[in-house]
Amino acid sequence: MPDISAVRKAYLEHSAHSGHVLLPSASLVPENDATTLFTGSGMQPLVPYLLGQPHPAGARVANSQKCFRAEDIDEVGDNRHTTFFEMLGNWSFGDYFKKEQLASFFVFLTDGLGIAPERIYVSVFMGDEKSGVPRDEESAKIWQELFAQKGIKAEVTEGVSSETGMRGGRIFYYGARKNWWSRAGGPEAMPAGEPGGPDSEVFYEFTQVSHDTRFGAECHPNCDCGRFMEIGNSVFMEYRKRADGGFDRLSQRNVDFGGGLERVAAAAADEPDIYRAAEPLLDIIAAAEKLSGRRYGADAGETSSFRLIADHLRASVFMLDAGIEPSNTERGYILRRLIRRMVRRADMLGLPEYALAGLSLSLPKSYSGVYPEIGEKIEKIAAAVRAEEEKFRVTLKRGLGEFRRAVLSAGKKSLSGDEAFYYFQSFGFPKEMMLELGRENGISVDAAGFDTEYEKHQELSRAGSVQKFAGGLADRSAATTALHTATHLLHQSLRNVLGGHVEQKGSNITAERLRFDFKHPAKMSPEEIAAVEKMVNEQIEKDLEVVREEMTPAEAKSSGAIGLFGEKYGEMVSVYSVAGFSKEICGGPHVSRTGGMGKFRILKEEAVGSGVRRIKAVLE
Ligand SMILES: [Zn+2]
Ligand SMILES: [Zn+2]
Repeated sequence: MPDISAVRKAYLEHSAHSGHVLLPSASLVPENDATTLFTGSGMQPLVPYLLGQPHPAGARVANSQKCFRAEDIDEVGDNRHTTFFEMLGNWSFGDYFKKEQLASFFVFLTDGLGIAPERIYVSVFMGDEKSGVPRDEESAKIWQELFAQKGIKAEVTEGVSSETGMRGGRIFYYGARKNWWSRAGGPEAMPAGEPGGPDSEVFYEFTQVSHDTRFGAECHPNCDCGRFMEIGNSVFMEYRKRADGGFDRLSQRNVDFGGGLERVAAAAADEPDIYRAAEPLLDIIAAAEKLSGRRYGADAGETSSFRLIADHLRASVFMLDAGIEPSNTERGYILRRLIRRMVRRADMLGLPEYALAGLSLSLPKSYSGVYPEIGEKIEKIAAAVRAEEEKFRVTLKRGLGEFRRAVLSAGKKSLSGDEAFYYFQSFGFPKEMMLELGRENGISVDAAGFDTEYEKHQELSRAGSVQKFAGGLADRSAATTALHTATHLLHQSLRNVLGGHVEQKGSNITAERLRFDFKHPAKMSPEEIAAVEKMVNEQIEKDLEVVREEMTPAEAKSSGAIGLFGEKYGEMVSVYSVAGFSKEICGGPHVSRTGGMGKFRILKEEAVGSGVRRIKAVLE
């Protein structure tokens, strides 16, 4: 059974043989491209050359590109979606065109990999009357000739759908939604001057998979039931849009081919489950089977968990290799999310805690040949996976307690987007974990509302103003959130114990500790420190509610809120109150109740300037 390593090697040799210069895979983190977080296709790093810039390696290049698609995270769990994959690609910059391209891929599949030509189906562009782009009859004709060489009479079929079924066809015309490529979308959506063109997809038919009528009455190559799998797409960049909406032919016509390595390997093995066809994924699954005592394929839910762990672990390893670290923004957030989802599934499968790091050690066996750095760095990468799992388990424990108390025990029937986002922001609760907990406990969770809140938050953190106002809260983990609430309790306790002259001069919070600077003329006595500690801990034990309100700065001041009134505020400010104890103008975030924050302890009290004291404290 050909594995991905064998298929990659065969493809690159096939490409080199026809005069392609082989390029190394570009980084998973795009260079000089601020518009996307990850390299998601082989074409992405080559866009400047497809737009006309001469490529230093010449007019024919090929490679196998590491790709990550965050948009597929929620699809992972079936037998053919992964977030990380490699894309086999070859490009012609004004060199060969349709005839050579389609023949080359067909020959690779049939003669190179031994795939039965009867299992191959293709699609071509049906044309766009409005824009005056003709049907791609040229490609249809080339395909007919190629199939004829294998003794197959390939019928060309129009208007195929789940109503019509296959109609005995092998070559199918589809519209712009399936068979047109441009950066802007279909022909109509393209701005003037933009290049684009028709494409031709190749599908493999798994005859052992029966059509699933949930996807429509009849099966056809673009049906999502799993009987057909797209294994390659040749884009023919031959048009440029005119200002009048019509299209001109480009003088330099390009080919951009991409095919998923794992999918091609699955077709070559006639194995509809790419997790069985790709050795690195199957190695992780086999090791997880041993540790969990569960069997892959025995139970649908567990099988989905095995797949998610295999995919996310491999993706995490390649991200860490690319220098990405888990964090709460952008790439780091995606990585953190992958690891957190894995931890949750590992628990569901009954894997021992911290098993994931060990499971990653099987990856160099498959990848050291092409990506030697994976082998060199795997120990360090595994340690980073483990460290992130540790962080998550601490957060999770705290968050789960909070969620149980405030949602499950309170008998709530629904969770708004706002509320759900709170658990995410304060405890790092993944959205899908809340959805799962909701499903298990009959609580409806507003996932769309959560997404809206999340996007809003992303904008705010980009603007940076909220973070700045919140006192240098760069990190929004559960630990920092609790420490932030503790800072408010400390501030009020200092005023109660030492007097109303106490005023905040600075605040800095990390995941480990809080630091609070305030106006006070003398060193605090051990008795004063003990009294402040005691007062803060009493408020934590009382499990007080924390509420947020919006009001004008004047209203805030007259309501007795503490705040730096010398600063410029906007028209409205947010005020956080710890019920009956403290009230402060603040951007948040805070815990919803003080219970479960931990035990507050002052580590140090010292001078930082004339009349300014500094306290360092922790929650234990
Ligand atoms: Zn189907
Ligand atoms: Zn605050």
